[in-house]
Amino acid sequence: MSNTPKIWLSKPHMGSDELRLVTEAFASNWIAPQGPAIRDFEKGLEQATGVRHAVAMASGTAAIHIGLLLLGVGPRDIVICQSNTFVATANPVVYLGATPVFVDSEPYSWNMDPEKLKEAIADLQQKGLESRIKAIMPVHLYGMPANMEEILRIASQYDIPVIEDAAEALGSSYNGIGCGALGDIGVLSFNGNKIITSSGGGALLTNNVHQSDKAHFLITQARDAALHYQHSELGFNYRLSNVSASIGVGQMMVLAERVEQRRQNFRRYQQYFAKWSDAGLQLKFQDEAPKSFSNRWLTSILVDPEKCNGLTASELLHAFSRENIESRPLWKPMHLQPLYRKSPFYGSIVSEQLFSQGLCLPSGSNLTEEEFSRIFSVLDNVFSAFRNKVHAFAS
Ligand SMILES: *Cc1c(COP(=O)(O)O)cnc(C)c1O
Repeated sequence: MSNTPKIWLSKPHMGSDELRLVTEAFASNWIAPQGPAIRDFEKGLEQATGVRHAVAMASGTAAIHIGLLLLGVGPRDIVICQSNTFVATANPVVYLGATPVFVDSEPYSWNMDPEKLKEAIADLQQKGLESRIKAIMPVHLYGMPANMEEILRIASQYDIPVIEDAAEALGSSYNGIGCGALGDIGVLSFNGNKIITSSGGGALLTNNVHQSDKAHFLITQARDAALHYQHSELGFNYRLSNVSASIGVGQMMVLAERVEQRRQNFRRYQQYFAKWSDAGLQLKFQDEAPKSFSNRWLTSILVDPEKCNGLTASELLHAFSRENIESRPLWKPMHLQPLYRKSPFYGSIVSEQLFSQGLCLPSGSNLTEEEFSRIFSVLDNVFSAFRNKVHAFAS
């Protein structure tokens, strides 16, 4: 076991203004879920994504919850979700008493397969459940845009709203439109490991002023316009703190730089792996379609033992972990989670295979040269052993 410092998968990366902005919040005593930084942060998000209204919230999960409420999701309704995702995509569906129906991924983007989406809708239609489908929720996994053209076309054909889980995709775009601004509602997250962080937080994106007004109302305990505390609807305390928003404002100043740094990480890994493909180790990356621009939040690879002389993703993970380097399997698909075992699933084994072969590599925008050398030295060791295995066979 090494005493070397830990290399994290994706750690916070502050710019030069965040501390000053937090200090300003203290100086003006806006230490509350109210204050000028919140609107500034929202304006920055509107500019970055091209959406008319951003509503900052306590988390991405809260934003998904509110987004589903705005789309009228309630008990016994159905939301069609991408299975290949983090559990926070699906949980708010259940908070509302609705049922998530899961759809498999396409091998290309690793995101919602439009063909399987069609299959799901057709089957639910046949069961007389079409009117219960209240939303379709694709995810832009690891920053890679989903096949939105097809998904939006199918959604509009059946007149079902789309809520985009863009929690991992701030700074990504599709057809030149920011991720989160493509569907009826978009959701962002500023959790500590995301491309930018407000030390926890999220946002709901919409072009519809009624939706953004309603979102503000719902996250402030649904307080009616009256001098006393009067409530006609069930609300939530989901506001973002002005201190957190101050961090967010500073992070928005460096967003473009962070995207470039993450994309640079990807290119570095890509170049590194290219030299091993000649040695018979064919690793695969998540593909960027011609219309897609990914923020490359996490560089992830597929290790197919049949194309890598028997090497597995978990062997790589353990080799990293022995050197105190964090890597992580891809998200375990929702339809394979004990929590969602009984939920309907449309698809085959694409996301299951991604899970068994995938690995997220250290991808922080603040990885140092020294850290990269440690990462590549672990990979060199593992890969040489597996190249030699073949040579041993051959001789
Ligand atoms: C991080 C994340 C969320 C949840 O965001 P929080 O801010 O952590 O609540 C939702 N969906 C996906 C895909 C995520 O990666």
